[in-house]
Formats: sequence, C-alpha cells, structure tokens
Amino acid sequence: MVGIPGVGKTTLISEMIRRLKNNNHDATVVGFGTLMLEVGMENGLRDRDHLRKLPISEQKRLQNIAAKRIAAYEGTILVDTHAFINSPEGYYPGLPKHVLDIIKPTNFISVAARPEEIYNRRMRDTTRNRDHITLASVKEDLDVQSGMISACSIITGSPVKHVLNSEGKVDEVAGRIISMMGL
Ligand code: ATP
Ligand code: MG
Repeated sequence: MVGIPGVGKTTLISEMIRRLKNNNHDATVVGFGTLMLEVGMENGLRDRDHLRKLPISEQKRLQNIAAKRIAAYEGTILVDTHAFINSPEGYYPGLPKHVLDIIKPTNFISVAARPEEIYNRRMRDTTRNRDHITLASVKEDLDVQSGMISACSIITGSPVKHVLNSEGKVDEVAGRIISMMGL
C-alpha cells in the first residue's frame, strides 16, 4: 500500500488488520520506513525524518536489507510504504526494481485523498517533522505517486487499485480494500 504522507495509509491498514483478525485471518503489517529505520539505527541513524535525507546510495542499501527482511515473512503481509521519497536529489522510488524483485508484491493499492484533506491531515499531525508543504506541492506529489505506482505494476505484472480515502470514511474504505482483495 502506497500513498503520500498524511493520506491515511497507517490508519487504513490498522483498520484492515482489526477486521481481518475479527474474521480469523492472520495478517502482518510491515512499515517499510520503520523497518528501514531499524536497519538505519543499527548503522548509526538518529531519527525517521533523517532517512530521506541520506545519500541515495545509503537509502538504497537500507532499502535492500529491509526488503530482504520482508521477503522472509510468511502469510499475508501488508506493506505500508511510499511510492516515492522526496529526497534532496529529487523523487526517489520507494519501490525500485531491486526492491520489487525481492519482495514480489502480488497487489498494489495506491491511496489518495482530496489535496485539501491531505494538507489538513498533515497540519493536524504534530508528531512528525514534515517538509514544508503547499496545496500545489500535494497535488504534484499525487501525480508523481500515480506515475511511480503504474511503473511498479508494469515491472511486476501485478495489478494496482486506486482508492480514495475520503474524510471520515476509514471504515468504509478499509472494508472495500479487503473485499476487493478477496481477503
Ligand atoms: P505517513 O506516510 O506520514 O506515515 P499516513 O499515510 O500513514 O502518513 P496516517 O498517519 O494514517 O497517514 O494519517 C494521517 C492523519 O490523517 C492522522 O491524523 C489520521 O487520523 C488522519 N486520517 C487518516 N484517514 C482519515 C480519514 N479518512 N478521515 C479523516 N482523517 C483521517
Ligand atoms: Mg504512516
């Protein structure tokens, strides 16, 4: 599952897991960023929001190790990640070919929401040290997300579903994703 920051991936995934557990379906959530952070911290990194500022070569190395850890899990795995990372050198793919080759996703879910809603959600969340944003930059990021996830689908041959996480609709959207995936 991919989506730009504040779109609601983690919120949706938590609700999906709650529903799956109620139906006795075991599923594991893996936050790609959290896993990369763990790997990074083992290598001297300080905090989450520094990850995207590391040199690309280092991000690639951490990504690769994190991907191998994901590939080692068994059963249904929901990966909470970004289609791209805003690095100082430009948009860096969250799921480049070297990662896709390791984790081999069966499905992609691309989460979007109205730009105004995303903007407000980010502003409300004071727990994160986010980059400065404007409504125009949120719109541009949604376009980049679309392009990045289409490329993932082409590389892997796995389908991509676009979902709109509308304000106040977490339950409904989570339910729709689960039934759509036949889980
Ligand atoms: P990040 O990439 O930074 O981890 P995220 O996509 O995981 O972001 P969340 O942390 O799940 O985003 O959500 C961001 C904020 O938006 C949270 O405060 C969450 O409660 C709120 N939120 C998520 N979905 C909805 C929704 N459908 N309606 C209203 N608020 C929502
Ligand atoms: Mg999140």
